[in-house]
Amino acid sequence: MYTNDNTICSLLEMPQPESPPNPVPEDEPLSTDPANWPSVLTDRIRTQLVCRGPSEVPADFVFPRNEVDGRSCHHQYFKKNLVNGEKILRSWLVYSEKNNSLFCFCCKLFSKKTINLTSSGLTDWKHASHLLTSHDNSLEHLIYMKVWKELAVRIKKGQTIDNQEMALLEAEKMRWRAVLTRLTAIVQSLAARNLALRGSTETLYTPSNGNFLKEVELMAQFDPILKEHLNRVQKNTSGHTSHLSHSIQNELVDLLSSKIISEMVSDIKQAKYFSVVLDCTPDISHTEQLSVVIRVVSLTELCIKEHFMGFLEAEESTGLHLASLILKRLDELKVPFEDCRGQAYDNGANMKGKNKGVQARLLQMNPRAIFVPCGAHTLNLVVADASKASTDAMNYFGILHKLFTLFSASTQRWAILKKHVGITLKMWTDTRWESKVKSVEPLRYQAAAVREALIEVRDHTKDPIIKVEAQSLSEEVGSYRFSKCTVVWYDILSQTHHVSKLMQSPSMQVDVAVSLLKRIEKGLQRYRATDFVTAQMTA
Ligand SMILES: [Zn+2]
Repeated sequence: MYTNDNTICSLLEMPQPESPPNPVPEDEPLSTDPANWPSVLTDRIRTQLVCRGPSEVPADFVFPRNEVDGRSCHHQYFKKNLVNGEKILRSWLVYSEKNNSLFCFCCKLFSKKTINLTSSGLTDWKHASHLLTSHDNSLEHLIYMKVWKELAVRIKKGQTIDNQEMALLEAEKMRWRAVLTRLTAIVQSLAARNLALRGSTETLYTPSNGNFLKEVELMAQFDPILKEHLNRVQKNTSGHTSHLSHSIQNELVDLLSSKIISEMVSDIKQAKYFSVVLDCTPDISHTEQLSVVIRVVSLTELCIKEHFMGFLEAEESTGLHLASLILKRLDELKVPFEDCRGQAYDNGANMKGKNKGVQARLLQMNPRAIFVPCGAHTLNLVVADASKASTDAMNYFGILHKLFTLFSASTQRWAILKKHVGITLKMWTDTRWESKVKSVEPLRYQAAAVREALIEVRDHTKDPIIKVEAQSLSEEVGSYRFSKCTVVWYDILSQTHHVSKLMQSPSMQVDVAVSLLKRIEKGLQRYRATDFVTAQMTA
């Protein structure tokens, strides 16, 4: 079966019986005594035996004698006499202490033929010398000697190649791991500061290559690993993996975000019950974005936590679409909607609508997801609704807006205003309605001064449009109607502003908030009943 061309491959392909008669667990070290070897040898066992090589008999070993003829094995059998009288070692000869017999190491391993030297061992000490010499010269033995030696060389060579390659591979793995650790840290640090990663180019050491590459360059100045990495990248511009491209940056961002989301989801699941806070707003590219925040009592830190779960792109802003979006997102996160115990949104009929809004649809699915209007916004809504009802109010704030624009559009006009008025005019923010109190305040106390400033602007400006505008505004500010509006709005807004500020406090309690709202409601009712006359008199 084995020819001179036989290699380890043919050895490995050698068919094996399905169930060896005396299988030996392959992990156990094999005995050095060939009598203890399994009768059927697997490739693995062969390799193991070849690796270890045949065991030698100690020089002082005393061989036991046969009881029948008193003969025994001799140390001289392990030496072969050459024609020139030289003696060389029979490397293939192995002694079995167990059987008190001799084996041929290579024939035992590879030969299929059953002879004494491979099966139970040679014990015929009378003819041993002659038998060993004839085995030494047999063709079959020579073939298996060659197979044995070739396999030994291959194993030795193979191991060295493997070891070197493994060491190189391991070093490469460690290097990439170190590089990626640094790149991830940079992405993390930029993301934490909400900084954009990319610039207009992706070439290293160019001015506009963005924050990410700039940080990489900076770190490479001091860190030997990144320095070496950048050297490699610059040397091999074509086809070398740099892990610095935008796709890797995106991948790192995605990996970090999924890791963070999974942490948050585990926090939510631990807390079990949660409420959703949603808001819909168009972004800079006019795409409607639904922001999803999940509010839980975190059990790890025992405090209320709001987890931002990302923006969802809403193609439509209908209640049905938004509700299905949020449900889909919760499903993706594997957060069961049954555990939702509250929903909070601000304005918008699509959100809080009683029949078709998101809250009504979610409430149908889970009656315990009670709708809570967004607290800090409630008061704004009350005031905003009241003001929208009155066109006078819109006109009033329209005039205020015009006043602000007139003065703020030019530094000269602003200087004139400051000369006359102690408190400067303030523009309000659109999100907080009660912030308008700050813009009403100067007119409440310094309307005359504002009017004088307007007249000065009218007299000094060369622009005919501004002249007309200043004239009409000065008339408006001087009118009784405007003064009355100023007084009424100032009274109402200063009351609500105070309460609104209190309600935005993080330590605000629900019962306190309720009593504050009730008090302000009563205050406004009283104002309508009696204080309006006072306001007219003040005006
Ligand atoms: Zn042999």
